Amino acid sequence: MPLHSCLNLILIFHLLMLIPSSSSPSPEELSQIPSIFLQHAQHPEVFDWMVDLRRKIHENPELGFQEFETSKLIRAELDRLGISYKYPVAITGVVGFIGTGNPPFVAIRADMDALALQEGVEWEHKSKVPGKMHACGHDAHVAMLLGAAKILQQHRHLIQGTVVLVFQPAEEGGGGAKKMLEAGVLDNVDAIFGLHVSSRHPFGMVISKPGPILAASGFFEAVIGGKGGHAALPQHTIDPILAASNIIVSLQHLVSREADPLDSQVVTIAKFQGGGAFNVIPDSVTIGGTFRAFSKESFIQLKQRIIEVITKQANVQRCNATVEFNEDQKPFFPVTLNDQNLYKHFRTVAGDMLGTNNILDMQPLMGTEDFGFYGEVIPGLFYFVGMKNESVGKFEQGHSPYYIVNEDVLPYGAALHASIATRYLLEYSTKSASTKGHSYDEL
Ligand SMILES: [Zn+2]
Ligand SMILES: [Zn+2]
Repeated sequence: MPLHSCLNLILIFHLLMLIPSSSSPSPEELSQIPSIFLQHAQHPEVFDWMVDLRRKIHENPELGFQEFETSKLIRAELDRLGISYKYPVAITGVVGFIGTGNPPFVAIRADMDALALQEGVEWEHKSKVPGKMHACGHDAHVAMLLGAAKILQQHRHLIQGTVVLVFQPAEEGGGGAKKMLEAGVLDNVDAIFGLHVSSRHPFGMVISKPGPILAASGFFEAVIGGKGGHAALPQHTIDPILAASNIIVSLQHLVSREADPLDSQVVTIAKFQGGGAFNVIPDSVTIGGTFRAFSKESFIQLKQRIIEVITKQANVQRCNATVEFNEDQKPFFPVTLNDQNLYKHFRTVAGDMLGTNNILDMQPLMGTEDFGFYGEVIPGLFYFVGMKNESVGKFEQGHSPYYIVNEDVLPYGAALHASIATRYLLEYSTKSASTKGHSYDEL
């Protein structure tokens, strides 16, 4: 047996001896859990298995609410690990349970969907589906949550309560989290933790902050109607191209003139479609874009003003306009808000694993995450796990066709998930030993 295997077995044995299931662990015993879980996750048996799963998922990317094969793979692994689960939840979602089946409940979440993007990276496990790619690391997220499941199942004597494994569909714009909530996955759950791999931060570091970290977002599309005609005879037409151009300029005033400069907001027009000839003024123009804000109030205000500016500015130019937000296909995402107490818990556990000097404060981003839906209902904590290492390759931003994952990050994600959940239950249970709730009906 190689030395590292011996060492690992010794560590696992040590942990088993450390915390007998009947007694409450001491602070020293608790502080050792994260590093022992990390060593467990880095053991070739667990590491190679996670790498293999991630590569399988990478080769067969599936878009939101179509993650049937990914979901099947997850269920097969949960079956092998002897972990019970509910399926289907929100079409392709899977919800697993590890522990006593009784409260307290804590959830850890992974998203499963890929992007409509042609992979540009040439490697052995390149996407086999033309026009689809895991370019946001969700393949790694699934492998990490399965890694956490394996670690947790092997240490289930430590779980004082139940860990809920949330494998959700359609994070990329489809609002899978919203559908999971509607299916009741967080009923009776006290807290939820989620992570995202980060190409922008160095490998070995984790990044988060308390409070709002990612913006609320929405999409809109407007049709500006005029009267088409000969481009050389504008007096006989009502030009929607000029009207749309003025609308776009006016929309820029919402952020630059109406919003508090200290309250970050974005309005971007990303789509402009009108006309097809050099000498024809078209009947109508379609514009579309996204808007972002860091508070619910600012978001609602922005939405209202987008409608007013588009319709009224169109009228100034003798055009008419309709504005659609298409919420059924592209639901509004709420702000991702990190709970203060959960952040403290995350800092303690991640600090025990990596050292506090490897926890970075996050700069909030105008990007968005449907994890925000969970945080609206129960306390939530979202964090990033750095994977940038130039000796492994060139790390492009998410959603790039050249996006790569540093697979060395997989044990970190798995061990963080597992130790944050385990410690939450141990520390929660010791604090409120009298908590008596009701268990999941189906358990
Ligand atoms: Zn993404
Ligand atoms: Zn993502």
